[in-house]
Amino acid sequence: MRVYADNAATTYLSKTARDKLIECLDNYNGNPNSLHTDGQRTQEILDEAREIVAGCINAKNPNEIYFTSGGSEADNQALLSAARVLAAKGKKHLVTLNIEHHAILHTMAKLEKEGFEVTYLKPQLNGIVDVEDVRNAIREDTALVSVMFANNEMGAIQPIPEIGAICKEKGVLFHTDAVQAAAHLPIDVQAMNIDMLSMSGHKFHGPKGVGILYARNGIRLVNVIEGGAQERGKRAGTVNVPGIAAMAVALKEGCDNMEVNMSKVRALRDRLIEGLKDIPYSQLNGDPVRRLPGNVNWSFEGVEGESLLLHLDMYGIECSSGSACTSESLDPSHVLTGMGVPVEAAHGSLRFSLDIENTEEQIDYVIEKVHSVVNYYRNMSPYWEDLENGTREHCIPEHM
Ligand SMILES: *Cc1c(COP(=O)(O)O)cnc(C)c1O
Repeated sequence: MRVYADNAATTYLSKTARDKLIECLDNYNGNPNSLHTDGQRTQEILDEAREIVAGCINAKNPNEIYFTSGGSEADNQALLSAARVLAAKGKKHLVTLNIEHHAILHTMAKLEKEGFEVTYLKPQLNGIVDVEDVRNAIREDTALVSVMFANNEMGAIQPIPEIGAICKEKGVLFHTDAVQAAAHLPIDVQAMNIDMLSMSGHKFHGPKGVGILYARNGIRLVNVIEGGAQERGKRAGTVNVPGIAAMAVALKEGCDNMEVNMSKVRALRDRLIEGLKDIPYSQLNGDPVRRLPGNVNWSFEGVEGESLLLHLDMYGIECSSGSACTSESLDPSHVLTGMGVPVEAAHGSLRFSLDIENTEEQIDYVIEKVHSVVNYYRNMSPYWEDLENGTREHCIPEHM
């Protein structure tokens, strides 16, 4: 059996998105910036995509939607814009979480080198930040708060409407990396007081290499890519019209079917959680309820996540240990350690990210194989032996 359970790393292109992509590749090859007929029909495709995306997140105006090369670029541009524009007004302080994606954390580190001050808030043990911590971190000179909508590794959903309200009250810009949330959780940028928001096509069955930055009208953006006047002068480069059109229909399809799809995925997630619960000295990471519908992140003491992952792959089960972006380094996940999971437990963690294509049979197969693979590695681990004979202390309780 083959089980794809790594949808937080990337999703497969949906049929709707694929059809749109092919239709545009075949029929719309004009440059949307050209004034002739061919250019203008391509421009219409782009306008349509912008309207679709605006509708999906309840943006007031389609001109608040900017197309980028992906979630990373959208994150970079949001942070750099707020920092550069507000530094001129003496605001050189930024607030974020220590469990954000590296597109946020590395941009923050770059800004620190330029003289900005960044507060990295630590979430509670369930992976969710205390809104009072956000409120208390905001100062007179705070330019921006950037808190992700939902975490890519352990799925915790942050209190976005509450943070939006605090930022509005304090007159501070609010950006959220909603790459994992788009098409999975309802998003309303107006009701949630979100000033800037990032999304990425390939995380909701659209193509890779295209993303979205929403920036409320009135927010000044600074270019990350300089050149022509595309995207209202804020993102140079001839736009990827087929990719953008396909991304927009994928987002719409995901949003239109969100309730039905996500209740199915949630049930699969909970079946997997139930099935892993009886493994001793193991735990679910992240809040059990306020988590992404498809996310299961589990720590097993005494084993290496990478060994489990590669062994499960031989059984046709594709999942992740830590995030795909850090899977080439053997450091434990900054997300798990950042929320207070002990390093030993973080080392033995696996992430399953499920989607509508998964079935109950697949989940039962995963449960069976995880049990056997964890036992296999524990039985040959000297570390596990130390835990068993009491030379070393357990960091996870025997039962959840
Ligand atoms: C995948 C991801 C990104 C990066 O998006 P790309 O389109 O791959 O650049 C950023 N933030 C989060 C939370 C992600 O999961």
